Amino acid sequence: MAEKRKGSCLFCSLQCGFGMELDEGAPVRIDFDEEAPLNRGALCARGHYNIELLLHPRRFLAATVNRRRVPRVTAISRVAGKLSSIKEENGGTAIGVIVGTELSNEDYRKAVSFASDVVGTRSLAVAYDGNDFPFLEGGGAGNAAPEDLDDADCFLLVGDIFWGHPCIAKRIIEARHASRSNAIYTVNPYRTNTDWFADFHIKARPDTEPLVLGAILSALRAKGAPKVDMDSAAAAAGLAVAEIEALAADLKERKKVVVVASSRLGNSASARLTALFASRIADSVGGKYAPLFRGGNAIGAYRHVGSGRTVPEILADVADGKIKALLVFGPDILQLYPGAVSTDDLEALGLLAASSVFENDTSKHSDVGLPQAVWTEFDGSYTPSFGGTTSIEALVRPQGDAVAVGEMLQALAAELGSGIGAGEPAGEPEAPEIDVDAALGAIAKRAPVDGVSLVEGTNPLHRWDGAITGRMTFPQRQRPYCEVWIGEDVAAELGLAPGSNVTVTSDRGETRIIATVTDRMQGGLVAIPSYVPDARGLMAWTPNAETRWYDVAATGVKMTSDS
Ligand code: SF4
Repeated sequence: MAEKRKGSCLFCSLQCGFGMELDEGAPVRIDFDEEAPLNRGALCARGHYNIELLLHPRRFLAATVNRRRVPRVTAISRVAGKLSSIKEENGGTAIGVIVGTELSNEDYRKAVSFASDVVGTRSLAVAYDGNDFPFLEGGGAGNAAPEDLDDADCFLLVGDIFWGHPCIAKRIIEARHASRSNAIYTVNPYRTNTDWFADFHIKARPDTEPLVLGAILSALRAKGAPKVDMDSAAAAAGLAVAEIEALAADLKERKKVVVVASSRLGNSASARLTALFASRIADSVGGKYAPLFRGGNAIGAYRHVGSGRTVPEILADVADGKIKALLVFGPDILQLYPGAVSTDDLEALGLLAASSVFENDTSKHSDVGLPQAVWTEFDGSYTPSFGGTTSIEALVRPQGDAVAVGEMLQALAAELGSGIGAGEPAGEPEAPEIDVDAALGAIAKRAPVDGVSLVEGTNPLHRWDGAITGRMTFPQRQRPYCEVWIGEDVAAELGLAPGSNVTVTSDRGETRIIATVTDRMQGGLVAIPSYVPDARGLMAWTPNAETRWYDVAATGVKMTSDS
């Protein structure tokens, strides 16, 4: 008997609603949910993967110990036994726990209780993708509601909003065209799909967005505006100082400005300041701020887990041998942070246990693998970008031996002779103080890259590191080859014909990839697909002690034509 139910997508922080048609409990068709408060029925390609996730024939569905299939209870006992002995010998602080950004708020609370009450460790961290963490630290969770999009008379869009988070594009474009005088301003290093709809596109050099936003704040004479060298800011934006001042004056005149900013791969100090200034611009003109994250429940993770420790700190402790047992729930840390931890370091651990939806590089190096349920297989609540709470009721029962992370933690705690409570949300952590003027000064002094500069190319078919979306059939059929975007200037220099192969080499290694020559890229910029492990690995993920996150950059980039 056919039945229609509702679910939500966690492939980004919009948490769009969708419908699912079930036949005798089996998912048969994904449908549009026109009552969904933010996306009103719109669904991007990634949103459609929600059905394939439930039906995928290659899901990781049986627990493993030393790569041999075992019942889940055996795997849980193995983890509990190892944890007990490691704790007895080294104390709870020798145990680290890393969770992904798609857990429910309830499961984050259980993770907090498990780490502190059962294990006795502070080393619990969230594996944020890209720069979600510095973005949260810089600007928080924002204050915009879905309705704010409809009556806005001006949008300031930072990042490729329309490709990264396609389901709000229609609403923003409709609001723009509600009146001839409404406007969309964009800030992006190259011409993205969002910029096609811009009344004015500020082409800031990569990682100089804070200079441009800081200059707008300064021109707004906003309270606490940073000290910005307007000439450097204008040069970074390729504008005249007068143009920045005119833009600021226009924002001040508007009745309702909505600033929407998307986190991205890049320098973490820039990301933190970008979010900080984007939120301050919204405040100073009486507007609203909406930060968009890669992690589906990044805001929930930040509020519930806090920021006591970060992944770079925990992985440094793994490399130093201070952490002897590591539990990873969800992310493929080897693919997500290429080179940040070595497989030798992971192999040297007394215990590595990893749960995931698909088998991945991290679970392959694990002593114990645990199949993890998808968000539509269990009940939970989540915190989206535009305020409120998203509740997802299980559409189907989890496949095979897969269970939600909270259930695994409860089973582990029981094996360890303990219980875990529902816990209380930690609340949004206090944003750390940063020396804004010093950070801006450092960005201003950074010389433009001489030659080729690699940046992340957003792809609407993939979620950032591709660990899950890379398994989906639609992108495999639609785009079987990944491509690097190269500007006409770089292509001419290399004598490259569109569609030919190019070898891209950085200090981290090299990869061969098909070149797409496009006028989107200019001035030596080259966009690599961050969802392809080889291409992602060309960037160095360097821990930054001040931001407690990774700076992501490629140096010494060379490109050679293979033809
Ligand atoms: S915009 Fe984000 S939440 Fe909405 S369907 Fe696409 S990936 Fe899912």
